[in-house]
Amino acid sequence: MVVAKKFIHQLTVPTPFAVGDTHVYLLKGDTLSLIDAGVRTEAAWDAIVSQLKEIGYKPSDIEQIILTHHHPDHTGLIDRFEKADNIVGHENVNPWLTRDEEYFNHFEAFYYDYFDENGVPRRFRSYLRKLKSQLDWAGLGRLTHRIDEGDFLPGHSEFRVVETKGHAQSHLSFLREDGTFIGGDHLLQHISPNPIMEPPNIGEKERPKPLLQYRANLEKCLSLDIKIVLPGHGNTFSNVNEVIPVRFAKQESRANKVLGLLKEYSQTAFQLCEQVFPRQYETQIDLTMSETIGQLDYLEDIGLVTKTIEDGVLFYHAN
Ligand SMILES: [Zn+2]
Repeated sequence: MVVAKKFIHQLTVPTPFAVGDTHVYLLKGDTLSLIDAGVRTEAAWDAIVSQLKEIGYKPSDIEQIILTHHHPDHTGLIDRFEKADNIVGHENVNPWLTRDEEYFNHFEAFYYDYFDENGVPRRFRSYLRKLKSQLDWAGLGRLTHRIDEGDFLPGHSEFRVVETKGHAQSHLSFLREDGTFIGGDHLLQHISPNPIMEPPNIGEKERPKPLLQYRANLEKCLSLDIKIVLPGHGNTFSNVNEVIPVRFAKQESRANKVLGLLKEYSQTAFQLCEQVFPRQYETQIDLTMSETIGQLDYLEDIGLVTKTIEDGVLFYHAN
């Protein structure tokens, strides 16, 4: 094994998804860690193995895997690194890694109610069942070490954990003392991450408001003195103070579009979703509804819309 000082090295891994390549980071500190683990395909594995080889490492050198969030393009290969005994992440990653049946039943029950309440026709229920096949791309395993806001990365104590929920309820980012920010999908230069709806944790009643979380965590990032972002997708970038205001502006203009439709007449989230995403909602009901509900949560939060319930279905009204 190569003896080296602390370093971060970016590996780029293909995915079969529209998002394209995903980045994995090799982190050398007191231990040798991977941040994220690509998607569960042979092409992704081959890419990691060959890029490790180029810098003098092999998969069996990896001692620990640290996850930014639970999505399949970030967890896929965790079980392929034979010496990586430590799997580190937010506790909400675990049900996905372990394929926790109780959690998936909870997930499905939540989504059925959430869709009914928001006027989504029942024919979309079959689409939800198909979502489970996404797990084929995701890593199998179990967390050995749970981390959250304010913790330090095990073996890399110069990195502090920053909770960045919104895109996922398991999302964490990692900030080094010098302003280097490993941002997963929270901070990307070229796209806004989807604020994907997930159920509340088992035993909790209130659903999350992913877009509001995402906005709050963008605000938080503005105050962190981030010097460079090493993202999960796309280019490394430094102009955080320019990128974040662009994200806010794009989101607020989407919210305005929703508000404009509500000013015409009161309607359900699904009716809005059909108009905002006429070409996408049939094939991507989960993402398009998450986006629409996100804007409604935002408009409600700033006092521009209210909702009422009629026969179990929520109707939104412009104030
Ligand atoms: Zn993601």
